[in-house]
Order: sequence, then structure tokens, then C-alpha cells
Amino acid sequence: PYKGISYEDMREVRRKNLNPALATNFSEPLLIHEGHMQWLFDHTGRRYLDLFGGIVTVSVGHCHPKVKEAATKQMSKLWHTTNIYMHPKIHEYAERITETLPGDLKVVYFVNSGSEANDLAMMMARLYTGSFDIVTLRNSYHGASPYCIGLTAQGTWKYGFANGFGIHNASNPDPYRGLWGGYRDCEVQSTRASESMLEGGECSSAQKYVDQLEEVLAYSIPRGRLAAFFAESIQGVGGTVQFPLGYLKKAFEKVRSYGGLCVADEVQSGFGRTGDHFWGFEGHDVIPDIVTMAKSIGNGFPLAAVVTTPAVAATMAQALHFNTFGGNPIACAVGISVLETMKEEKTQENCKVLGPYFLNKLAEIRDKYPIVGDVRGKGLMLGLELVEDKGSRQPISAPRIMEVWDGLKNLGVIVGRGGHYGQVLRMKPPMCITKEDVDFAVEALHEVLQKACDK
Ligand code: PMP
Repeated sequence: PYKGISYEDMREVRRKNLNPALATNFSEPLLIHEGHMQWLFDHTGRRYLDLFGGIVTVSVGHCHPKVKEAATKQMSKLWHTTNIYMHPKIHEYAERITETLPGDLKVVYFVNSGSEANDLAMMMARLYTGSFDIVTLRNSYHGASPYCIGLTAQGTWKYGFANGFGIHNASNPDPYRGLWGGYRDCEVQSTRASESMLEGGECSSAQKYVDQLEEVLAYSIPRGRLAAFFAESIQGVGGTVQFPLGYLKKAFEKVRSYGGLCVADEVQSGFGRTGDHFWGFEGHDVIPDIVTMAKSIGNGFPLAAVVTTPAVAATMAQALHFNTFGGNPIACAVGISVLETMKEEKTQENCKVLGPYFLNKLAEIRDKYPIVGDVRGKGLMLGLELVEDKGSRQPISAPRIMEVWDGLKNLGVIVGRGGHYGQVLRMKPPMCITKEDVDFAVEALHEVLQKACDK
């Protein structure tokens, strides 16, 4: 157990000295003291199965010994130079990371967070096209910087100033809550683990959403002046929303026909998490012009990147561009080690195998409990949506989901929450979890959901 400043004192410091807008998960916030692989330990020494990985960030495992060794080794050699000099790690890493990407995605810019990556992607798209306007999808999350908050299309994160200047939102292609959703006529890009939710053949709604996107392109943007379209491959903060099969491919074609660049935000869906592919966009059969990545890339170390084509990068060369910590030796050593560990420990394969296993169990849960409206996701990026009523799909009330969420934590399972109403439980664990961990989590879910339904 932890012997330092007391839990109560820390809560007081948090109340007095830390950002008051910072939400603290759970009604009794967790005081995390240590982490190891898929496990977290609180101040009393109690162990929790971490199915949220610090918001989809811990990819190969908390304090993974190999990554820790790489960071420590680099720390005793060189921490920092800024990349006005050469150092071996950044060159090795630039080569390695671009090798994972298809097409002409060959030029990498290292930054320190997902928001910085999307800020940079916005600037690149605007410079390359000479246009200003950008389209994102409602319910997307692309960061919280003053620039990115305009891309993010969830009112709960926005402040009342002009944060979306030149940014427009298209309808969200959400098969559960969207305008033309409904799994019956809308096959989502999925593990297909629970076929019952994927009945039906042609995905007619994909075209309807693309038509709506085209309305935005045609009506809201000066003719021929589209800079970019941003999309997550699966929406994360928005509640694990998968698009109807074919949507993103058609959307990219449409955007390009209007002269815009396509930006894939892989901050949550990248690095093998979706199982079938290393990058989430590959599951949509598209190649973006710009890819932004963060979170899993550093297994919890502050590291992020933007990768683009030489043609787009060339337009960035018209002025000096610099980032003090971007691509620092420690970050690059960590990044290389994370990639190596993913390969050695076959984390993508683990997502591919455990994803459908977990999703099938979640489908059973959905069929059993009246408050589970939907389950979805791909690989180890899963969501379970709670409702008051399956017919109307009215989102579950805040106190009810809080009970479920706290209940899971009290049983030793940490999951995240997302969605516009905070109604979706999100399971995006370190990719090293095992089948036994899934079984444990599923058992806990049954227990808390049964309790919630019995009330
Ligand atoms: N894009 C996506 C898809 C994200 O989920 C997030 C963070 N939740 C970001 C961008 C922003 O990343 P950061 O918090 O590192 O700025």
C-alpha cells in the first residue's frame, strides 16, 4: 500500500489546485499508484483489470519491461537536442513508422499529443489546398486545443467562443443512433462476431450519409475551396461508433472530387487495435492523404505523429516549422520499442482473436438484459450502449450508468465511458489482455447488469 499523502488530502489538492473541468471517473475516484501490463493498483494495493488503458493509450502494457528498458537506456545517453541536430533514434523511428503505412505516406512529423497532431494536419491541408474550410463528422473527437476543438463535434467539450471557424459538420453515420441507421439494412464494418446484429445485405444507409456529406460540401463551402475532411476510423470518445460498411470509402471519393484532402485520425484506432489491420482506415479500404496518430504509439509516453505524402509535406517547407520536444530521443526510443514489442508479442493478432471472442460475449449480454441496447466494435475497441428502453433507445439515465460503472470498478474491472449522453461503456484495454481477463470482465458485467435490471 501507498504510504504518501493521504487519499483525502489528494482529493483536496485536486479540488483546489487542479483543473476544475477535469472529470474524475467514478463516484469515489480511483487513486492509482502503480501499473503493470493490464493491471492497475490503487493506494491500498488493490488490483484492477484495466480495460481502458488510460483512454486507449497503454498499448503493450503498463510499464512494459521492454519499453521501460529502452527508455531507461536512452535516458542515460541523451534526452534532448531538438531536431535541429541529427540523432540516430529519430531517423530509425521515422523509417520504421512509415514502413507500417501504405501508399505514399512517407513523411513524418513528430509531435507530443493527438491535438498537436491534428492541429498540424489542419495546417498542412490548408497550405496544400490553399483553401480553409474543413468538414468533420458530428460526434467526432479530434482534440481540445483551441484549433482542434473546432474539429471536435461534441458540444459537451466546447466553450462558447468562435472555435469552429471554417469548420462544418456532416451527419454522423451512426448505425444505432443515426438518421438512417439500423443494423438490419446497414452492415457495419465489424468483426462480424455477432451476426444477429448484422443481418441484411446491402448497406443502403452508407450512400444516404454520403449524400448528406455532399450537401455540406455543396451548400456550406465556397465552391472549390475545401481543404480537408477529418474522420476517426471508429469514433472513440463518441462511444465506439462504427460507420456503415462502405461509408468512408465513398466519403473519401466525394471529398476528393471537391478538391479536399482526407485525414484519418488514428489516435485511438491505430496500432493494430482493430485486429484485422494495423491501421483502422485499412479496414475501410482507403488510403488517406494525412494520418494522425498518438496514444498507443507511445504506450503512455507523450508521443504523437503526423504522416503525410512528400507532396503535402513540400508545402510545409515554405516556412520554418519546428517543435521543441517532437521526436526527442527518449520518445523515439520508446516508439521504436513499442513497435518491436507489438511485433514480438503479436498484439495485433491478440486483438484479432480476442476481439470477436469478447464481442460475442457482449452480444449474449445484449440479448439478455433489457438495458443493453447495442454492442459493437472491432478488435479490442469495443462498446456497450446502455438504454432505458430497447425500443425507444432512450439513453440510460446518468445515475443508472454510474451505478453500473462504479459496480464494475468495485468488482475490479475498469472500463471507460463515452457517447453524447455518457451512455456507452468503452472497452479498449492494453492489447496484452488474455481470454481469462475477458471472461473475468464478462462475469463482472453480468453481475452489475443483473443488479441494475433487478432494481
Ligand atoms: N483524436 C482522437 C480520436 C482522440 O481520441 C483524442 C484524445 N482522446 C485526440 C485526438 C486528442 O489527443 P490528445 O488528448 O493527446 O491531445
